[in-house]
Amino acid sequence: MQALRLTAWKSDPELIEVDEPEPGPGEVVVKVAGAGACHSDLHLMHDFTDGLLPWGPPFTLGHENAGWVEAMGPGVTGLAAGDPVAVYGPWGCGRCARCRVGMENYCERQAELGAAGGGLGHDGGMARYMLVPSDRWLVPLGDLDPVAAAPLTDAGLTPYHAIKRSLPLLGAGSTAMVIGAGGGLGHMGVQILAALTPATIIAVDQNQGALDRASQVGAQHGVISGEDAADQVRDITKGRGIDVCIDMVGVDATLALGAAVTRPMGHLTIVGIGGGTLPISFFSIAYEVSVATTYWGTIPELMEVVTLAAEGRITPHIQRFGLADAHTAYEAMQAGTLEGRAVIIPD
Ligand code: NAD
Ligand code: ZN
Ligand code: ZN
Repeated sequence: MQALRLTAWKSDPELIEVDEPEPGPGEVVVKVAGAGACHSDLHLMHDFTDGLLPWGPPFTLGHENAGWVEAMGPGVTGLAAGDPVAVYGPWGCGRCARCRVGMENYCERQAELGAAGGGLGHDGGMARYMLVPSDRWLVPLGDLDPVAAAPLTDAGLTPYHAIKRSLPLLGAGSTAMVIGAGGGLGHMGVQILAALTPATIIAVDQNQGALDRASQVGAQHGVISGEDAADQVRDITKGRGIDVCIDMVGVDATLALGAAVTRPMGHLTIVGIGGGTLPISFFSIAYEVSVATTYWGTIPELMEVVTLAAEGRITPHIQRFGLADAHTAYEAMQAGTLEGRAVIIPD
């Protein structure tokens, strides 16, 4: 089968012929319906070099996957061929205290495991079939279309986890700001905020098209990033500032914006891997603001995200691409012209 593989750091992925996977004991082969293209793939292609991570190329890209159970190895129970499933992405050890509660994104033994998951060191979903080494990473999709559901596993799950930590701050009268709101994660983050909270949602992005997309999915205000963005946000909040900032970009300018407008006791959550730095000092941020990075989400949270989608309360907006056109999707993502999430359909 053809697979879109990263063969070296600082290179473009290549379509390469590889063997179809066979499931061993406890393993499942999934026929991929869709593999979302994540901006993190661009970071993988452009920003990493040898030694920065405990794993590296070659591997097949695609860490945001859904499809149908194709074949099961000995010992796999509770699944049947043809079942539609979402593939949970961060693969932990399964045995540490964090993994035992489904929090494999924060596995205590991740460093020993080497690769971080399918499409992140192990072979991912940008091929007709994907080997999933444990059935605990499969979440049933019920009636959801697995192509449209693929983005739930990262573009949905990552903002869901980031927002959930801040729910106590997001009551009536509160304000949440999503930076990068028109992007893959951002347009899901806006929907998740709207589904879970009564907060007023301020979308921040680079152009009006992205703000329009964010407003279509639930943002009440839109602000173009730039010099006067902080003043606009202060005006919208009548000088009070925002309760929660979810920064899906993470460059110097967006981190500075979040720090400038998050009100005392607020949360500033950094999800984007833009490589920026936020200087923290006594006077650089309002009192008692908590700053955190978050990484992906838990298995139970993925089940909650799938439930929200099944109830029609969140819907990934997707653009479909064939495997041979994946480079077009990444070029559009780099240029900022994608609308929602690009999903690669291998077959
Ligand atoms: P995307 O390309 O789909 O969306 C990014 C959005 O940010 C676009 O709408 C773009 O216009 C906007 N943007 C870019 N620069 C901006 C700026 N200076 N000000 C305002 N808006 C700006 O990307 P994505 O797939 O949604 O990923 C977003 C980020 O999150 C990436 O850095 C990615 O690597 C990271 N990510 C992190 C995790 C995690 O677990 N922490 C998981 C997935 C993705
Ligand atoms: Zn990702
Ligand atoms: Zn673990």
